[in-house]
Amino acid sequence: MAEHHRDQGESVGIVTPYRAQADITHDWLADQDSLNRSPAVEVGTAHRFQGREFDVVVLDLVEDGRRPGWTVKGRMDDVDAFNRDGARLFNVGATRARRRVYIIASWAAVSRAHHGTVLAHVRELATPGPERRILGVRAAQLLGLDELDVPQEFTPVQHEIWQAFDGHVRWDAIYDEHSYFPAALEAIDSARHTVWLWAPWYYKRLWEVLPHLHAARQRGVHVVVFVVEDSDKGLQQQLHDPRTAQDAERRLPELIAAVSRVVRIRTMHQKILVVDDRTTFLGSLNTLSTPTGGGARREVMVRFRGSRFARSLLEHEHAEQFSRPVRCPKCHVDMEVRKYSAKGKGNGKSHYWAWACPEWKPDPKSGKNKQCGALREVYAEDAALVPRGRRV
Ligand SMILES: [Zn+2]
Repeated sequence: MAEHHRDQGESVGIVTPYRAQADITHDWLADQDSLNRSPAVEVGTAHRFQGREFDVVVLDLVEDGRRPGWTVKGRMDDVDAFNRDGARLFNVGATRARRRVYIIASWAAVSRAHHGTVLAHVRELATPGPERRILGVRAAQLLGLDELDVPQEFTPVQHEIWQAFDGHVRWDAIYDEHSYFPAALEAIDSARHTVWLWAPWYYKRLWEVLPHLHAARQRGVHVVVFVVEDSDKGLQQQLHDPRTAQDAERRLPELIAAVSRVVRIRTMHQKILVVDDRTTFLGSLNTLSTPTGGGARREVMVRFRGSRFARSLLEHEHAEQFSRPVRCPKCHVDMEVRKYSAKGKGNGKSHYWAWACPEWKPDPKSGKNKQCGALREVYAEDAALVPRGRRV
């Protein structure tokens, strides 16, 4: 909300009675790189902002009413200094605004407020009628709404708040086959805790990117790379072509040695880089195989900022589940992820995921090599679609 107004050139102060809430809000905004822009969004306690003014104030009352504190107990005429202070902090916060005040409060706390308290006054001013001065908006009514679902009776203010909330994500850059790599390497170099990389083919760019992934791993960053497995046609061609075989054979062991975890997935095609569960690059460019300059092809990668978006994407790609390969109990090797279609079920597009053992062994009957094929930990988009024999 604060950023929404800031982006329209208004000065914004986020005010709260509590030091801890001010600190955590400040840290979050710093994490979003939101404090260095102009005009700045400022965060502080009501104490700190005495004498200051902002176009817009977001007054965050924090309390839910279950453990009454300054906000819930605050009343001007109280004999108790603590309670008077609560009312004063509310007044200081609310009167810092020139144009608009957003009060973030628990409606449960407001509706149960004792007569004479600050929150009881808020309740009176929010009650529909000729005296109404405060417009109530339920956060739950706004969060996660699609544009099509926005109620028609929304007032312009409600609509504006909804727009401010919508998605908590913004794209901030679009890259092509030339500009992507410097940005991607910079993101990897600045990673603090996680790098998730979906790069089906690891070929022409591997030797350039690998030192950056390895350096991140050396700093303690958890680096997970998803690539195709051996049955991939392109990989097979390279392994069998005398001109590329030597290089192709080195690649996987070196990748495995350099990062925290390499997960091999059959039939993957997505190209994604997620750094610190917050910065996401998504598009057509393969981070480990696109040649310098992108070759003849046109490519695009979009960078998104926002942890909710990043987390949704990681969940969508089953990042956590797939980053913990299961070992084949017979062959003692890491299994790989395979996508199976649930034939004859659902609408024909349904599928499920399984850990499959990639090892080949001589079949005792025929003497020919046969894939172990053991399946474990079936993970399904819809568990009901998994054939009974495949469930574990
Ligand atoms: Zn096996």
